[in-house]
Amino acid sequence: MIVFDLHCRDDGTRFEGWFRSSADFQDQLESGLLACPNCGGDQIEKAVMAPAVGRKGNQHAGVPAPAPDRRPAVQAGQDAAVATMAPLSEDTKKALFAMAEIQRKVLEKSRWVGGKFAEEARSMHYGEAEAQPIHGETSIEEAEQLIEEGIEIAALPFPVAPPDAVN
Ligand SMILES: [Zn+2]
Repeated sequence: MIVFDLHCRDDGTRFEGWFRSSADFQDQLESGLLACPNCGGDQIEKAVMAPAVGRKGNQHAGVPAPAPDRRPAVQAGQDAAVATMAPLSEDTKKALFAMAEIQRKVLEKSRWVGGKFAEEARSMHYGEAEAQPIHGETSIEEAEQLIEEGIEIAALPFPVAPPDAVN
């Protein structure tokens, strides 16, 4: 991965863009895929080149990193107030949509247990409760502990709104 400092000619926003390579950046630029996180304008130019730095590992335990060779993410820049995503290629969008759809289908048969995930997962693992698919919330530390205990869990690739939080 390579990181470029980008600059919006419209409002002067500076932000970082991550690209597979210099050519990848050129491709995205020429296809008009790059947009300013602040105003959405496409008058983007390269500011100063920064050294390539590896991204920190995925923080969700057990999640395979999605398409690591094509993960264009824009981080919140010096002047940008919020973190934004770089525009995704059509292929990436399709792949993400398909994954989200799979997750939705899987969860249809799964019971939401909210913050009791670790507790429920343990009782099922140790035979105190009937095994059934569940999903809920847990901390990274707790998830790591569950995995250490040999309990098979996986982080969901997409955030899930708790049923009681859906408007
Ligand atoms: Zn802008």
